[in-house]
Amino acid sequence: MKAENSTRIQFDSLSVNEAYARGAVAAFLARYDPTVPQLADIKTAVSEAVTNCIVHAYPDRVGQIVLTVAVYPDRRIKITVADKGIGIADVAQAMEPLFTTGDPEERSGLGFAVMQSFMDGVRVTSHPARGTRVVMTKRLAAKSSDT
Ligand code: ATP
Ligand code: MG
Repeated sequence: MKAENSTRIQFDSLSVNEAYARGAVAAFLARYDPTVPQLADIKTAVSEAVTNCIVHAYPDRVGQIVLTVAVYPDRRIKITVADKGIGIADVAQAMEPLFTTGDPEERSGLGFAVMQSFMDGVRVTSHPARGTRVVMTKRLAAKSSDT
């Protein structure tokens, strides 16, 4: 199915840009009247994916993060968050709840679990030294005016 609308933004891997990314997705989706809980879920998932790029993908430099949102006629949305950072050697292991390579004082290893519980689908592809792409999908509830 072809997207009926889409957007793409690129920003630096700075922690200040996590709120920008979350807000940009919410602003783009506003015209589709998502429910408040669905929008909260989507913003949380975006926040986890973007934070991973900021914290893990570029450990000692500022790199680029590309975020896209596409909306399909059946109200499915697809969000991709991609970096060209260090990549993940074992994606299945990285997605296990509580697995983290970060500082255990700061990270709980639950980011991917949060994305999976708040979105309908999460796919991760990654290549060491080439980067990581997280694709998340969710179907928005029917607009209240349609019911
Ligand atoms: P939390 O999200 O709870 O703060 P976390 O970021 O370690 O902790 P996850 O978000 O589940 O937990 O990620 C698990 C692991 O996957 C990370 O510790 C890291 O090793 C790896 N990872 C995740 N995203 C990326 C990325 N974009 N680039 C490189 N490694 C990543
Ligand atoms: Mg994380």
